[in-house]
Amino acid sequence: MSDSLSGSCGAGGCGPRGPLTPEQEQILFGHGTEYPGSSPLNHEKREGAYHCAACGSLLFRSATKYESGSGWPSFWAAEPNAVATHKDTSHGMVRTEAHCAQCEGHLGHVFPDGPPPTGQRYCMNGLALDFRPDPQRATSAGGATSMDHTSGWAS
Ligand SMILES: [Zn+2]
Repeated sequence: MSDSLSGSCGAGGCGPRGPLTPEQEQILFGHGTEYPGSSPLNHEKREGAYHCAACGSLLFRSATKYESGSGWPSFWAAEPNAVATHKDTSHGMVRTEAHCAQCEGHLGHVFPDGPPPTGQRYCMNGLALDFRPDPQRATSAGGATSMDHTSGWAS
């Protein structure tokens, strides 16, 4: 198991992070929808990348995330070729369903009422996303900051 995060992620993604929970399975492969406002990612403001929770493919960057007020994490653009769509006519509506181009896991829907420059709103289930913050400030378990060599170990 490698513990590299963003650094070695290629176009194919970084690989899945771990087994999916039943809730995630239900959304990604059962076309489920989480409760609005239930995802902690609604309030996620850090810089970073949003990956597919199922396969690890890079789907969105934090730069395109915005507060839509819908109760679901929303983006106005996806990474190129990362998110595929198709017409969803269930529930008596015509909507655009969005799924991971790599593993076809269901992510959410795309609506044409987003902000500029795209005018699109990718309304995503937070459980279908795996947020990986950019490594900017050294937090705890990083290889960079070595041991705590305090000067207190004089005899
Ligand atoms: Zn995927």
